[in-house]
Amino acid sequence: MRQGYESAGEDVGLNPVFSRPGEATEFPRFSLPRGESLPETAFQVVHDEAMLDGNARLNLATFVGTWMEEQAQRLYAEAADKNIVDKDEYPQTAAIETRCWRMLAELWHAPHPERAIGTSTVGSSEACMLGGLALKRRWQQARRAAGKSTDRPNLVMSSAVQVCWEKFCAYFEVEPRMVPISADAPTLDGPALAAYVDENTIGVVAIMGVTYTGKYEPVQRIAAALDAIQAEHGWDVPIHVDGASGAMVAPFLQPELEWDFRLERVASINTSGHKYGLVYPGLGWVVWRSEELLPEELIFRVSYLGGSMPTFALNFSRPGAQVLLQYYQFLRLGFEGYRRVQSAARDVARYLADAVAGLGAFDIVADGSDIPVTAWRLKDGYTDTWTLYDLSERLRARGWLVPAYPLPESLTAVTVQRAVVRNGLSRDLAGGLVDAISDGVGMLDQLDAPLPGPTAVPFHH
Ligand SMILES: *Cc1c(COP(=O)(O)O)cnc(C)c1O
Repeated sequence: MRQGYESAGEDVGLNPVFSRPGEATEFPRFSLPRGESLPETAFQVVHDEAMLDGNARLNLATFVGTWMEEQAQRLYAEAADKNIVDKDEYPQTAAIETRCWRMLAELWHAPHPERAIGTSTVGSSEACMLGGLALKRRWQQARRAAGKSTDRPNLVMSSAVQVCWEKFCAYFEVEPRMVPISADAPTLDGPALAAYVDENTIGVVAIMGVTYTGKYEPVQRIAAALDAIQAEHGWDVPIHVDGASGAMVAPFLQPELEWDFRLERVASINTSGHKYGLVYPGLGWVVWRSEELLPEELIFRVSYLGGSMPTFALNFSRPGAQVLLQYYQFLRLGFEGYRRVQSAARDVARYLADAVAGLGAFDIVADGSDIPVTAWRLKDGYTDTWTLYDLSERLRARGWLVPAYPLPESLTAVTVQRAVVRNGLSRDLAGGLVDAISDGVGMLDQLDAPLPGPTAVPFHH
């Protein structure tokens, strides 16, 4: 009676794949292989190739999360198939996304979190693009309303900005006005602003956690300087805070510091969920103080539970799992848990700063007191046979990835080496790093001629 494969008398393979797979013995490197291979074979090949990458846990170059608990890993695997853009199909993920940015709005002291607006993004870079676009659009609207030209928008920021701001300016045709940092003023500071801000300034970027040195820019002083500029010229210039790392550190470690929506001039803030938000790569957040600050033209509506939901993003499809992971961390850690994780990281960063200073060869450039980052330079006159690039190579031979790089414009003569301390770098592991640095210095000090050293490459973390 029943017609089907079992009764058809056909010799149909039971393998769920579409045709009979073969064991490929050789894969072409740059062409799509002609035929199939067994899943085990493909797995092993990819697995083995990836083994040649550095060890993520020993990668102190990155700010991005490299460790999560087992339960989080399970959630990740369960949710790997969810597309964030399918709001109607995954309404719970959409609701959780909203809960997360509302929590951030409150954490960052939005005066009325229920009137704030925000979104997840793929990272801080996308979040910064959206923050920058909102600034540009609002400036255009105001200029048009006043019958003035919108030809020449500019954005003011320090020369130590992360590369995403240079991209924003290049992609969206805004003139970047970089305020050079100096040894005396290593961050953007209030007094310098008057020379850079004018009627065409769409906003000022303040960085909470300069990537090179981990230092916070003084957002309060920047806001005060902009108040003075407004009083003098009438230009009302908003601030976007790039809190890629610091916006998930300062609320826990420096709660008294006013850098967020407590300052009226701060219009929007971004952070990387995948940095000190403690989630694996692929997650950023941006929040505006209130809905009016996000121009309606940037918002698109997608269908959601029979109604519509506002979305604003550069991407369409994107993984939804990271949003669930962020929510997991928020529930798992709470305020107190984040405070403990971040202060443990800070303690390790400080330990590292003290231990590296104790080696005698280095001056400390960042001691972990803002975000948990330690950076050092060679003491003037310490050696002319080796550089921090050589030390970086020595460390790599021991498995540690600790980059050296030149400081930005106007301080490029200074080379620093930086270790980003994250959840998962214990005090014990950090002790191993100090031993490796100490051994590296000892070995390099024995050289009597300079090494044909590795050269500086542009560094964009
Ligand atoms: C890391 C970082 C970015 C870029 O963030 P992604 O999440 O990597 O896209 C932007 N600004 C600052 C200050 C950063 O530290």
